Amino acid sequence: MPSKETGASASKTISENKIALVTGANKGVGFQIAKALSNNGYIVYIASRNLKNGAAAATEIGGKARAVQLDVTDPIAIRKAVLQLAQDFGHLNLLVNNAGISHAGGPDRTLEDIMAANRASIASLDEMRTVWETNVFGALAVTQAFIPLLKNAKSARIVNVSSGLGSLQLNMDPGNPWRKHFEVVYGASKTALNAITVALAIELEESNIKVNAVTPSFTATALNNFQGTDSVEVGSREPVRVALEEDGPTGTFTGPDREVFPW
Ligand code: NAP
Repeated sequence: MPSKETGASASKTISENKIALVTGANKGVGFQIAKALSNNGYIVYIASRNLKNGAAAATEIGGKARAVQLDVTDPIAIRKAVLQLAQDFGHLNLLVNNAGISHAGGPDRTLEDIMAANRASIASLDEMRTVWETNVFGALAVTQAFIPLLKNAKSARIVNVSSGLGSLQLNMDPGNPWRKHFEVVYGASKTALNAITVALAIELEESNIKVNAVTPSFTATALNNFQGTDSVEVGSREPVRVALEEDGPTGTFTGPDREVFPW
């Protein structure tokens, strides 16, 4: 058993490592974010609800990437992941809340079907609860659980992968062609995630933890039945930029071309 002193000096040495955890990192935008962080010197935890998929992604990324099982809707899995990181390094520099779903139906549902079914006047509240469980409550539960480890880091950041679709101000602009896609299951879940981002940024502004929301561009992934128009490399650019920014501000919401999005 290492003595308390040994443990302290070991964790002091290890604390030089930059540690990141990306949820939903086994594919899509999350995989690309994890890969970029790994290429930039982070030890990245590839968090995935299916450990096998996360392990395959970690192998593909190589370097010091490692897999951890984490379904963001499962409090026990969250606790286990926190314990694992606490034991491995004792701190976390970067938490990327990327895991997200756009609906609760089968994988072949088209974007048009989803948007039509999830309009506020007719949306299934059960489907809304399922999506919010991952996109909103899951992201907050993971954040709350990792805050002690983020506080242990010299400097830390939480990046919430949101969507421009969640911007209330943009949706109130009649000139915005995307506003017709604002629905209550997915779109409003990102509005709620934005609100959580603001609440955390305000609460933590005197601390070592910065909190930002970012939106990828419209990226071809399973989330939109691969109907997105950008590659994951392009789509993940802004999440990666904000995650890697050492001196960047807290409390921002930015998009694919670094533009500031209104909340
Ligand atoms: P994706 O390829 O479908 O990836 C979503 C990831 O989230 C997958 O790894 C998925 O795991 C994981 N996930 C889903 N539910 C989970 C849960 N309960 N616990 C843990 N992981 C879970 O979609 P994506 O486009 O890369 O989405 C990534 C993020 O970008 C999402 O937050 C999305 O809202 C946001 N976004 C995407 C776009 C776009 O155009 N693609 C635009 C704006 C915002 P499985 O592999 O197990 O399903």
